[in-house]
Amino acid sequence: MLVDSHCHLNYLEDPDDSILKATRSGITSMLCVCVNEETAKDVIELSKRHENVYASLGCHPESAGEDLSWLRDSEDCVQAIAIGEMGLDYKFKRLEDVRHNQLQSFEYQMALAIDLSKPVIIHTREAEDDTIAVLKNFPGSRGVLHCFTESTRLAEYALSRGFSISFSGIVTFPNAENVREVASIVPRDRLLIETDAPWLSPVPFRGKTNEPSFLLETAKFLASHLKMDFEELCAVTSRNFSDLFKPGEKGEQH
Ligand SMILES: [Zn+2]
Repeated sequence: MLVDSHCHLNYLEDPDDSILKATRSGITSMLCVCVNEETAKDVIELSKRHENVYASLGCHPESAGEDLSWLRDSEDCVQAIAIGEMGLDYKFKRLEDVRHNQLQSFEYQMALAIDLSKPVIIHTREAEDDTIAVLKNFPGSRGVLHCFTESTRLAEYALSRGFSISFSGIVTFPNAENVREVASIVPRDRLLIETDAPWLSPVPFRGKTNEPSFLLETAKFLASHLKMDFEELCAVTSRNFSDLFKPGEKGEQH
């Protein structure tokens, strides 16, 4: 039992084959995350076609600026188990208007998630102060900071707010000491893992297209880093996934 809490199956060459391979490797569920309106249909379709694939709908900061009325109006949005991914990414785009668009898009989706009583999936990179400011504006929100690579300060703030933190294959990279340090301070009941496939393959698959079955490598690595049994890490992260996203409700949607 192991859950990939964040992947983009729709970008894989043969999603159905990757899902089958993952299921055979012991990945019991996958959360397929949408990044913009254009890909929403594919994400929803995959979640309808596969019993163990769930959908999240949202607009990634890279797509910020697009009209988000589709998200509020979409019936699929009501059926998704989370809103996102959303957030801020100031790594390459530091222009004032780009930041403004990202902030607006982020806040719009935070408000929507509260309206719909759904957890949020947050992408945040080099935007610590603004991320904290937005979280402060939405005290009723809950969710996860995914593919976490940021500071201990941001992690501690998010944890104090009840958020979970998810680690990708980056935690296996030799130079990711800061990520491993943060992983060590995350309480066990707030820990999630993910592939973020097709990107960020863990060691020893770096350079290859990532897919959910590779989550086993990240899980093995993280278990050893946290001095946990592999089975325990799988059980804990799967339980945390269920507690946060309530995927059991999917059955009622069909
Ligand atoms: Zn992602």
